[in-house]
Amino acid sequence: MQFPTITDFEIVDLRFPTSEEAHGSDAVHVDPDYSAAYVVLKTNGTHAGHGLTFTIGRGNEIVCQAIRSMMPFVVGKSLAEIQRDRRAFWRSLAQDSQFRWLGPEKGVMALAVAAIVNAVWDLEARVAGKPLWRLLADMPAEELVAAIDFHGIRDAVDEDACLAMLRANDATRAERIARVEREGFPAYTTSCGWIGYSDDTVRARCREGIRDGFTHFKMKIGQSIEDDVRRARIIREEIGPDRVLMVDANQRFDVQQAIDWIKPLAPFNIWWFEEPISPDDVLGHAEIARAIQPIRVATGEQCQNRVMFKQFLASGGMQICQLDSCRVGGVNDNLAIMALARRFGVPVCPHAGGVGLCEFVAHLILVDYIRFNPTMDGRVCEFVDHLHEHFVDPCIVKGGRYLAPQLPGYSGEVKRASIDAFRFPDGPEWIKRAGTRTAKGVAR
Ligand SMILES: [Mg+2]
Repeated sequence: MQFPTITDFEIVDLRFPTSEEAHGSDAVHVDPDYSAAYVVLKTNGTHAGHGLTFTIGRGNEIVCQAIRSMMPFVVGKSLAEIQRDRRAFWRSLAQDSQFRWLGPEKGVMALAVAAIVNAVWDLEARVAGKPLWRLLADMPAEELVAAIDFHGIRDAVDEDACLAMLRANDATRAERIARVEREGFPAYTTSCGWIGYSDDTVRARCREGIRDGFTHFKMKIGQSIEDDVRRARIIREEIGPDRVLMVDANQRFDVQQAIDWIKPLAPFNIWWFEEPISPDDVLGHAEIARAIQPIRVATGEQCQNRVMFKQFLASGGMQICQLDSCRVGGVNDNLAIMALARRFGVPVCPHAGGVGLCEFVAHLILVDYIRFNPTMDGRVCEFVDHLHEHFVDPCIVKGGRYLAPQLPGYSGEVKRASIDAFRFPDGPEWIKRAGTRTAKGVAR
């Protein structure tokens, strides 16, 4: 095995005009242009590392600049050096003594760290000749623990507790590896329920979902209760009484408003209520969870870091843990979050969609299942069927299940033709839209 050195990089502001067809629209994010701050780490070897973080359009250039600003911490590093102390490398980005003033470990800086860290893990997996999930599935427990920064969560899970957790699962690890290679992991679809879709589109998407083997469906709510009740009725009619329905308000409400809003939807048999309120409101989530049971409260896609996950999990306000592959500083922090979810007995059902998120969580959900939380019961991973055609190694969902990725790496590499076409603002797909979009939509 060769250990290349990172010698150069490429950063791309990549944006897709998804707002034109209301893909991804919800009560708060009404016109997202799914975007990626994309980074390629070039090396003196045969492999490069491809990583990204996800945004929804304006501001993507700010994340790109944050990645660029951190490159002096990355270029010149050898993979061997990074692997010797993965935690120290991660902390050199997330806890740099000056950069940390901009976070620490939150917002734009955490997104930028995620893009870089995801690229480094991609490089490591490519060099090892394994898909990332398999690299982490095979890694000795001590090495996995050594990649995690436990700062701020040791009162809940420390190094020893995490090691014990991993060792307890080791005896049955091979069975779970064989199972995911055979069966994949259960997925759910959000593609039926975007808030900007007509009733006819909702029906058509439900039928497609059933045809494609999905048993779990999620709809966006929060603009009009009359519309939400009508759409819930339509989806229930289409999916029948036995399939599972979840709802997602994308932080639209205040606490009492959320409790009141869900009442007329409860008769449609809702499994979880996702992001009812501000993603920072720990106590509010816990209060809602107490008020609306047996409906569960789900959150996590905009939870900033492992320390905040600890609060949400310990408070009872996060009953479904929706970790995000690009929000919290990448793979390392997500390993910490998996350990926390296990500690508090909360199922991990990752957030995905966007651009590249499904490709990443196809790996992470397997790592969680194989190493941390060894059950598939009550677990589903989000899937949205948009933009996969732009990836070299797109995720594959068949019969309502994510199949285990097969190619070496972390599956985040975008096709060169897509980069050339959708590079913002000078790719041809954006140049041709420059006259037809508002100045707000195209910052030229
Ligand atoms: Mg959501």
